[in-house]
Amino acid sequence: MIYMDHAATSWPKPPEVLKAMIQYLEESGGNPGRSGHRLSVAAGRIIYETREAVAELLGVRDPLRVIFTLNATHAINLVLRATLRPGDRVVVTGMEHNAVMRPLRAMAVKHGIQVVVAPAQSDGSTDVAQVGPLLQPKARLLVAAHASNVTGTLAPMEELSRLAHAAGALVLADAAQTVGAVPIGIGHMGADFLVFSGHKGLLGPPGTGGVALGDGVDATALEPLILGGTGSRSESEEPPAHLPDRFEVGTPNGVGLAGLGAGVRWVQSHGVEELRAREMSLRRQLVEGLKTLRGVVVHGPRNPADATAVVSFTVLGRSVSEIGSQLDERFGILCRVGLHCAPRAHRSIGTYPEGTVRLSPGPFIEPADIDAVLSALRQVVARS
Ligand code: PMP
Repeated sequence: MIYMDHAATSWPKPPEVLKAMIQYLEESGGNPGRSGHRLSVAAGRIIYETREAVAELLGVRDPLRVIFTLNATHAINLVLRATLRPGDRVVVTGMEHNAVMRPLRAMAVKHGIQVVVAPAQSDGSTDVAQVGPLLQPKARLLVAAHASNVTGTLAPMEELSRLAHAAGALVLADAAQTVGAVPIGIGHMGADFLVFSGHKGLLGPPGTGGVALGDGVDATALEPLILGGTGSRSESEEPPAHLPDRFEVGTPNGVGLAGLGAGVRWVQSHGVEELRAREMSLRRQLVEGLKTLRGVVVHGPRNPADATAVVSFTVLGRSVSEIGSQLDERFGILCRVGLHCAPRAHRSIGTYPEGTVRLSPGPFIEPADIDAVLSALRQVVARS
């Protein structure tokens, strides 16, 4: 089996991740921040260590400014609900995922939020020249996928943040596809909110993700998405002002966060730069091979330095779902076909409504696996 669906969720997980999760349940599974006994303290320590590891990876100075959530979608909803007020204007890129578009559409209907889309080109890149004018008058927030989950195209976050800040807008960088795969610094990117998935490039289990808050963000001015007990300031029925408790309520996913910590340490020990160089080389190999196949059209940037390892393609006259089924059934190659929860991105690159075949290799994929994928595709494509 060759798993080429890393952009949906990473698989397999490093053995260290599984071990950390089992160890958490066996040795430290008390309720963190609640009971004060040794199992509770041990659980709290493991979660804090994960917070420290994520903070270090993302260049966040204070680990308490890393808020854990169920996934990137939950974190995006948290930020949108916390920052937007009725009538506010939001600028998004033409490559956003439905994790951004669906909550915004709902807020447009319910709260009169105005959603403005900055056009993307057919390779998934944002037309930066058009973003500045769209931020006027007085946009409240700019949202950009740091990398598209359809084409892998990287957004120029630094430049977008500069434009947004010059117009007085906050910046939400959706780094679901880039944490662990591309070097990231929240300060360098200029993001006020940096959203991440724990289960993709960080190699953690499902049920993990979060958002890091930039230095300039006053968390006490933000309304939490959900309210409840935190084990702190229990005398009050108001949400606590301090981080991360203001946004993390109820019993946390300790077992998942133990696994996430091990995933982040695995990524750090291999080095994000090294993992990135490896993935760019796999992308180059994949794209060059795909281009030799009859009828295959690759959708995305030409230069691997402008993208993650995510590669989308279509085959003239063939349905993407048929190609996906053949890859799975005949060759044991697992990929994703269709719209990948990002219809907006497909409208931008011209592959709506059919979508694409998406191949997304992770860190355990070898060049020989890419050769096997290309050989399988050669047979699938030849059968037309
Ligand atoms: N944004 C992007 C760009 C994504 O690729 C994804 C996952 N496909 C999400 C958001 C949502 O991530 P999660 O599954 O962690 O909620």
